[in-house]
Amino acid sequence: MKLILLGPPGAGKGTQARRLQDRYGIVQISTGDMLRAEVAAGSEVGLQAKAVMEAGQLVSDDILIRMLEARIAREDCARGFILDGFPRTVPQAEALDAMLKGKGLALDAVVELQVDDAALVDRIAGRFTCAKCGAGYHDSFHRPRVDGVCDVCGSTEFTRRADDNRETVGARLAAYHRQTAPLLPYYAASGKLHRVDGMAEMDEVARQLTSVLDALPEAEVLTKS
Ligand code: ADP
Ligand code: ADP
Ligand code: ZN
Repeated sequence: MKLILLGPPGAGKGTQARRLQDRYGIVQISTGDMLRAEVAAGSEVGLQAKAVMEAGQLVSDDILIRMLEARIAREDCARGFILDGFPRTVPQAEALDAMLKGKGLALDAVVELQVDDAALVDRIAGRFTCAKCGAGYHDSFHRPRVDGVCDVCGSTEFTRRADDNRETVGARLAAYHRQTAPLLPYYAASGKLHRVDGMAEMDEVARQLTSVLDALPEAEVLTKS
């Protein structure tokens, strides 16, 4: 199953993608995480991307398209994937369509997580992540069960993103509305666009999302013993 989660920064794409990964046995591909790894490694791409990301703007289509093409060619994508943060521009969407078509593949669904701008600022400002396993948390909406200890792996180290501050959020939302929102009519025209209320609480969003996806002919739910 090949999916795209679309939505503004802080909409809950990463949170939901991690759940879908477990449910359907398909990999989450977060281009934001991939770029942050490049920045941390000090690679050529990382050096080009760092300042752009900190300013809340989009990294060039060229870099992203090359990065994604290499990623989806890897073995672990054979069962499918969930794109979280890609595509973000119409040229990226067109490149993705061409890439898949070249392999005789196509997207199964694009799901928009709809969240009001006002709610996004609080979501982004309160976001933090386990440094060891990447589990996502929030100061108000999703605290670890034991303060300072990751529910998933027990680590006591957490990180906050350099761009998750109230000053940069405005630029990121503007980039979303100007460059990424045009993807909504693009995918609506292909008949693959579904919408989910991202304002609901996390478990409810997950329920709505799986009811949309379970109905797809390609859906194959992994049953855990
Ligand atoms: P995105 O990947 O779209 O940028 P995240 O999944 O990282 O968004 O979510 C942003 C922040 O909001 C995180 O701190 C997360 O814990 C929290 N969050 C995610 N979904 C919800 C929700 N439905 N209600 C409240 N907070 C949420
Ligand atoms: P969020 O979901 O909170 O917006 P991401 O982790 O997806 O954050 O992205 C963080 C930053 O990485 C973006 O603000 C942008 O600078 C860069 N980025 C990630 N994916 C893309 C993409 N597909 N195209 C261009 N820039 C990207
Ligand atoms: Zn953890």
